[in-house]
Amino acid sequence: MPKICLGIEGTAHSFGAGVVTSDGKVLANEWDMLKPAQGGIHPREASRHHSDLGPSIINRALSTAGISFKDIDLVAYSRGPGLGPCLRTTATIARTLALKLAVPLVDVNHCVAHIEIGCLESGFVDPVTVYVSGGNTQVIAFAGGRFRTFGETLDIAIGNMLDVLARTLGMGFPGGPIIETTAKEGTTFHSLPYSVKGMDLSYSGILTAAKRLYKEGVATQDICFSVQETAFGMLAEIAERALAHTKKEELLLTGGVARNNRLTEILQGVSERHEVRFHKVSPSLAGDQGAMIAWNGLLQFNAGRQIRIQDSHVLPKWRTDEQDIIWRQ
Ligand code: AMP
Ligand code: MG
Repeated sequence: MPKICLGIEGTAHSFGAGVVTSDGKVLANEWDMLKPAQGGIHPREASRHHSDLGPSIINRALSTAGISFKDIDLVAYSRGPGLGPCLRTTATIARTLALKLAVPLVDVNHCVAHIEIGCLESGFVDPVTVYVSGGNTQVIAFAGGRFRTFGETLDIAIGNMLDVLARTLGMGFPGGPIIETTAKEGTTFHSLPYSVKGMDLSYSGILTAAKRLYKEGVATQDICFSVQETAFGMLAEIAERALAHTKKEELLLTGGVARNNRLTEILQGVSERHEVRFHKVSPSLAGDQGAMIAWNGLLQFNAGRQIRIQDSHVLPKWRTDEQDIIWRQ
């Protein structure tokens, strides 16, 4: 009998509950995202969202999966990285369930979970992963027993940059999809800070410069177009270098910003030039959700790992490369 895992995600403004079986079937993947009426995400408000809506989202996932609490064999939770108050609320829900149901608890690194659900969907074995989201921008590959961050943002994440820019341009939240649509009507490219430092990149300069263009009266369509071309070009450069260094034969695009078609097109071009396979994770599995947490929980559990309640404190700054990837040894 395949095992059934309930995975709970809540590192930032989304709360998700996913049900996955050990033979890799996603039975349910329910989530809800806090959308502040104005301003950015406040960690306390996001954690309040999780405690208010968490139980109903979990119930919805169980009913979509057609199972009841007694069918759950293990509970997995996103232990980090993320916003402290959100992580603590999520972990508390997970611990309570594991204790009440008397099943094992498994802690999951959010970034690693994004990669592994992408591998499950694509059948990829050992990709270079471009993970782009509201809170993270990383190019990651497996080497020496760990997922190594080959390159990352030195300041803000690409999704955050797009969200803040959209707010400045009065476009609403989340900004990424609105910027993508608006950029299609852009005709004139304006030069913005292209900031790649070795394998790392920086997005704060683009944001400042784009805000200045807006004050100068440049059309929002042209701003969005120029921001996308510059920001995505930078990502393509480090992804390309990671492929060249590691000689890996697969390129995986994941995270909420992976929904962007222009970014997809650019990275697809990179994969063609390097003759590697390319996969963009489908929208329902690309953003923050519980199925990826459940799947990674199963991979770890099957490799012999679980965590005691007393050791399960959250890790807001848990780096991708701080975990031994025992299921890939
Ligand atoms: P996540 O943090 O993985 O849940 O992803 C959320 C981020 O994805 C937000 O910053 C969104 O603005 C961004 N996003 C969603 N759709 C798109 C899109 N089509 N283009 C660019 N960014 C997007
Ligand atoms: Mg994420």
